[in-house]
Amino acid sequence: MSFESLGLRTELLRAVSEKGYSAPTPIQTQAIPPILEGRDIMGGAQTGTGKTAGFTLPLLQRLMSSGIPTKGRRPVRALVLTPTRELAAQVSESVVTYGKHLPLRSTVVYGGVSINPQKQKLIKGVDILVATPGRLLDHVGQRSVDLSKVDILVLDEADRMLDMGFIRDIRKVLALLPRHKQTLLFSATFSNEIKKLSNELLKSPVLIEVAQQDITAELVTQVIHPVDKSRKRELLSYLVGSNNWKQVLVFTRTKHGANRLSQQLIKDGILAAAIHGNKSQGARTRALAEFKAGKVRVLVATDIAARGLDINQLPHVVNFELPNIAEDYVHRIGRTGRAGNEGEAMSLVCVDEHNLLKDIERLIKRDIPKDVIEGYEPDPSIKAEPINKGRGRQQQKAGRPGQKRSGGDNAASPWSNQRQSFKGRSNNQNRSRNQSQNRTRRNTQRAA
Ligand code: AMP
Repeated sequence: MSFESLGLRTELLRAVSEKGYSAPTPIQTQAIPPILEGRDIMGGAQTGTGKTAGFTLPLLQRLMSSGIPTKGRRPVRALVLTPTRELAAQVSESVVTYGKHLPLRSTVVYGGVSINPQKQKLIKGVDILVATPGRLLDHVGQRSVDLSKVDILVLDEADRMLDMGFIRDIRKVLALLPRHKQTLLFSATFSNEIKKLSNELLKSPVLIEVAQQDITAELVTQVIHPVDKSRKRELLSYLVGSNNWKQVLVFTRTKHGANRLSQQLIKDGILAAAIHGNKSQGARTRALAEFKAGKVRVLVATDIAARGLDINQLPHVVNFELPNIAEDYVHRIGRTGRAGNEGEAMSLVCVDEHNLLKDIERLIKRDIPKDVIEGYEPDPSIKAEPINKGRGRQQQKAGRPGQKRSGGDNAASPWSNQRQSFKGRSNNQNRSRNQSQNRTRRNTQRAA
């Protein structure tokens, strides 16, 4: 299958070939023809599958086909909603890249930065607007945008928008859009809430699904390194140093944990930066740019902040802590092994996280190989402690405070009989056996 055979116009084919793509990815092959026909889409695909080009290319073509208004201010005719600033910036970049030979105008709006420059761009008129829901509503309130002429609506990472509590904002935005429009909804997971939203929004949608297992099974090598909680940082520094990794994305559960870990890594002589919702947009953009440029070796991120990060050929992802929600594991490791490149995802897992690991293995329908690193063997006498879970979905899953978890707690070490490999440090005798109290702060999803 070639891009030419999908029916795209020459300006788009040129842009795609300049970007270096030789063939469409499966989601592109499936999504582009029905979008060009004007059909609604329910797309089960996550970041890393090429979904952005999958909706952006046909969207640009449809806007061209319906003609560019010549009189007055150009109305927004395509609106793309994304959950995070990073994803919004990423999608907007794709719109510019794929549309570079077309006379269409686009811009992006998201919070955390001054609203005035965004207003000025909007007032000049744009054909395509990429936005996070909250900032879009700010613009609606300030009358800098009119959404009554939107022909195409894209909800990107819809599941994440709902997880982040944007449903009310999304409904407010929907109320401002024309009834007749083309709607493209992309979601990595299909919860009942997503199904409800899609039933309300989509008219006879074409269902497109790119299997999650594509990423987890084929392109990303996954491994678990069992280790005591108090020794994770030491093991991470060891892995980065001994393998001479140049670019590693590391996930923590909390913003506080991300800060602390990046500071500790810096003390270990490893250039690191943290990226999360408490950082200003400028600091986030700078950390990402330095990471992409190879100036920062380790980028420590929370789940929400990492959404939408597109770093070409990111070779290593480390879960310093497993996520509370199993689906987030799939999102995290989807940061590597993107668009055909191979990647490696490793998780440093302590005894407290045994249940989270079981949830993940159930979700991805396979066991992840365990590899105990010599010198970092977990202490079998350490008992599991409950993990401090945050608000929202986590809390529902976590049960009531004080409730005993089903496995892990007081259970025999789950790591017995594991294969050993890697040469560890020789000074491991010094290691501390103290399990530090879990000081993780509440994982405030919305702000992460
Ligand atoms: P996405 O899933 O849209 O975030 O895309 C993931 C990555 O795949 C991005 O780095 C894109 O530039 C890249 N990509 C998208 N389409 C293709 C393609 N047809 N061939 C190779 N890489 C692609």
